[in-house]
Amino acid sequence: MLMPHPADADARRAVKPVICYPNDTLPVPPLDMYRRAFEGAEKVSEVFAPAREAACFRVPAGHMFRISSVEGPQVGDLNLWNANDLSERFYSGKSRALHGTHLTTGERMWSSFPYLRPMATIIEDTLHWYGMDQYGGSVHDVIGTRCDPYTGNLLAGSQYHHCCHSNLIRALADETGMSLAEAEPFVHDVLNVFMCTGFTRDTGQYFMKASPVRPGDHLDFFAEIDLLGALSACPGGDCSSEHSSDTAACYPLKVEVFAPVSGALEGWESPTVNGYDGTHGR
Ligand SMILES: [Zn+2]
Repeated sequence: MLMPHPADADARRAVKPVICYPNDTLPVPPLDMYRRAFEGAEKVSEVFAPAREAACFRVPAGHMFRISSVEGPQVGDLNLWNANDLSERFYSGKSRALHGTHLTTGERMWSSFPYLRPMATIIEDTLHWYGMDQYGGSVHDVIGTRCDPYTGNLLAGSQYHHCCHSNLIRALADETGMSLAEAEPFVHDVLNVFMCTGFTRDTGQYFMKASPVRPGDHLDFFAEIDLLGALSACPGGDCSSEHSSDTAACYPLKVEVFAPVSGALEGWESPTVNGYDGTHGR
């Protein structure tokens, strides 16, 4: 039985929202410095995540990396770890709480507790123009998780092996020598690169729509710490229809790593781990 509405229901709904984490005290990244370091930077490596597969890449602190669309519209699922300690990894939920549902230029990928420091800073986003569309959709979300075989099995009884979750596991295992079982717990919620998503206004459901990305579009990052990254070219392709199958048209994604221009980062230091003393009241 539905409960009756209270007499002041409209008044309670009309209460204005308060931003949970006002971000005007977040340290401001020195974007001009990062961009100077990137202009004329030397490319040191390049890797392709093939369609429906993932690839790993390493980026030393102070280097930059670029994820590019090539050949056709394609969404990528990005995991980041501290290259020297895989227990420090990207924290999608806290990055969302700090910056909002989608990340763009000047915003950061933050790491898990107890580290909570910037891992990477977005220094250019060629899809920044997209903004927020009429459906509440935007690009590069931190609201999804990553497509995975368990949810497909739950909802449809399927056994599909090229979801981003599995692709990331295989890539991490190949890169580190871990078994698949050892690698799986390190795979975490992603930055959905180039994916266009939101929540429906009426039911609050997670939606996706065709990504506006086109070949040549790219997302550029500054590595704040030594990074191991893994990028999966999602089996959803541009995510206009379905994922967790081989139905959608899929394309590779390119990752390039760049060394900074000599001297451009003078005075810059890799961020230290979070300053909380860790005693938790004991
Ligand atoms: Zn996926």
